[in-house]
Amino acid sequence: MEKFSTVIIGGGAAGIAAAISAKRRGQSVVICDRMPKLGKKILASGNGRCNLLNEKLDESFYNPSSRPLVRSIFEKFGKEEIKLLFKELGLQTYSEDGRIFPRTNQSSSVMKVLEMELARLSMPIELNFEVKSISHSRGLFTVAAKGGRSIECEKLVVAAGGRSYPALGSDGSCYKMVENLGHKIVEPVPAAVPLVLKERLCHVLQGQKIAASVKAIINQRTACEANGDLLFTNYGLSGTAILDVSEEISIAINRQKVRDVLLSVDMVPFMDKDALKLEISKRIKDRWKAEDLLAGVLPNKFHFAFEDKEIGSDAGKITDAVKSRIFKVVETKRWNEADFTAGGIDVKYVKPGTMESTVVKGLYFAREMIDVCGKRGGYNLAWAWASGFTAGQTT
Ligand SMILES: Cc1cc2nc3c(=O)[nH]c(=O)nc-3n(C[C@H](O)[C@H](O)[C@H](O)COP(=O)(O)OP(=O)(O)OC[C@H]3O[C@@H](n4cnc5c(N)ncnc54)[C@H](O)[C@@H]3O)c2cc1C
Repeated sequence: MEKFSTVIIGGGAAGIAAAISAKRRGQSVVICDRMPKLGKKILASGNGRCNLLNEKLDESFYNPSSRPLVRSIFEKFGKEEIKLLFKELGLQTYSEDGRIFPRTNQSSSVMKVLEMELARLSMPIELNFEVKSISHSRGLFTVAAKGGRSIECEKLVVAAGGRSYPALGSDGSCYKMVENLGHKIVEPVPAAVPLVLKERLCHVLQGQKIAASVKAIINQRTACEANGDLLFTNYGLSGTAILDVSEEISIAINRQKVRDVLLSVDMVPFMDKDALKLEISKRIKDRWKAEDLLAGVLPNKFHFAFEDKEIGSDAGKITDAVKSRIFKVVETKRWNEADFTAGGIDVKYVKPGTMESTVVKGLYFAREMIDVCGKRGGYNLAWAWASGFTAGQTT
């Protein structure tokens, strides 16, 4: 059986960062990945541009239960250290509204500098190595793959990702293995995911994109709010505003089995309610046709927003139909359309400052395996670099 001091399961952002830091410290390291290529999710990230970090980086951009762990890692390896890591690898970056991208606007540039560093470090990489079991006895881990191969190590970093976009490699297959070693798994659910509604209006307006404010109302309480794009689709709603409230909604629907989940949508966030009502009242008084009452305020088809409610020429009701429209959320889209995973290894099982397991010595975790989910804007890759680099560094 082959033996390394450190085995990294998963060659995504977190696994590559872990491998680089472990190898730089002189450990014998191997990356094992089930895919024929490393970093497929990095290449797909940011619509091919890879939003790798954010200028404003702290724990407040992550789910509340994870914040002490996230803070402990960013204190050691935060925004400045991530910037320096990439600067030293030769990656030029720029910031757009705080979101940091490679100058080339191509995620392949991020992968290229990482691959060059792996080559400089003569990093052994086992591709098509699908881990099927992990066992631990007398201070040694045995990592066994489909096909019968096994590797032994003293230190194991599990960076096998979550469950989103399984075609890019991470399918959640390592959760059970980690659970069998004594860790609790918080049920993973899709996050940054479109929402499914049973609303004729979505079908009628499919393809229309507007700027909107959205509130998620779960069990009659406002759980979260977001501003951004709202995209009507044949199944429901998508767009950045929806993706930003989808984590709380997904946890409620998919994990907690809550059925009372509503969205309150303001389709005219640039006008207050009274101003819009007054404008519509004037138009009604001036005998504008019903289908023209929102002309110049919303795209032309949006008169369907009040026509289907048969609220005719009541300025107050028309205003409500577009400024505080209530939609019932039926379900979320599934893993193939979710950018992130919410859930994973319970943070209580991960030691702050090191990423080591609290129950198995020598076992480390990084990024999407753990119940840490960041906001959109570079926070998930930032956590991948930081948690991965720290996990690889600690011996
Ligand atoms: C379409 C899309 C766009 C995104 N854009 C951004 C963005 O712009 N900015 C941002 O911050 N975040 C973005 N994210 C999220 C971010 O990419 C992920 O959170 C991050 O890449 C996760 O890194 P990871 O290393 O934990 O997991 P992954 O990148 O998923 O890597 C895990 C690796 O483990 C391997 N693996 C899994 N199981 C096994 C096994 N049993 N045996 C061996 N290998 C295994 C997989 O093949 C994979 O290569 C995006 C996500 C998606 C899906």
